[in-house]
Amino acid sequence: MDAETASTPAATPWRRALTLCRGAWHHAARLALDVALPTLCVSCREPVDGEGVCADCWAKLSFIEPPYCPRLGIPFVYDPGPDMLSMEAIANPPAYARARAAVRYDEVARTLVHALKYQDRTDLAPAMGRWMARAGRELLDGADVLIPVPLHWRRAWGRRFNQSGALARAIERQSGVTLRGDLLQRVRATEQQVGLSRAQRASNVQGAFQLSADAKSEVQGRRVVLIDDVLTTGATLDACARALLRAKASQVDVLVFARVVDTPKAPI
Ligand SMILES: [Zn+2]
Repeated sequence: MDAETASTPAATPWRRALTLCRGAWHHAARLALDVALPTLCVSCREPVDGEGVCADCWAKLSFIEPPYCPRLGIPFVYDPGPDMLSMEAIANPPAYARARAAVRYDEVARTLVHALKYQDRTDLAPAMGRWMARAGRELLDGADVLIPVPLHWRRAWGRRFNQSGALARAIERQSGVTLRGDLLQRVRATEQQVGLSRAQRASNVQGAFQLSADAKSEVQGRRVVLIDDVLTTGATLDACARALLRAKASQVDVLVFARVVDTPKAPI
């Protein structure tokens, strides 16, 4: 409190009203600025028309194209012929049937994922969802329901919205497959997966996902596509798929925006 308000109590309500007015004006001015200023590219901060990524940064994204592992969607350096699986699919087969990703998880992809997740750049979701719908066309074809990987309510509270839900909504619009964000629940808050080993990640999310009795009857016999932003080891998606298969889903596939791809090892 400054000296003036302290010495003249009668002036306080006026001052408070003035401060309120000023606050409202500032708010309105900021809103007007938001409308007047063009959207900036989420990656290079250059003004961009419409959606949040400029043409240059879009071209830098590493889209995943065939040939890739039909099971995990991991890109192959060369085409080994039809139905050849990746080493990962043979060594560590996940509970889900197939996974597809729009792009490799690199610097540009990470900028997009972080902007959507932590910086309220929900304007990115339609474009990211469109690329995902394209990458997951064969998964979405004949699918019954889209289920986003749920956040625990405590984390959802802090972040205000679920980025996987935002992507799933965009894919629903693209594909016409119904989004159901209410069927799968995260019943246990889990540690962040960042920095954990493959085994630690798996045990961290074990038993973290559940379906209510009502949700189970809705999932039974249906083909589910799980939606998430990034696939790293796939432990979270695997735990979700297990919960859905226990509820007798007929098939669970996985569609993500970006997946971690090891750089191809040099041939021996
Ligand atoms: Zn850019």
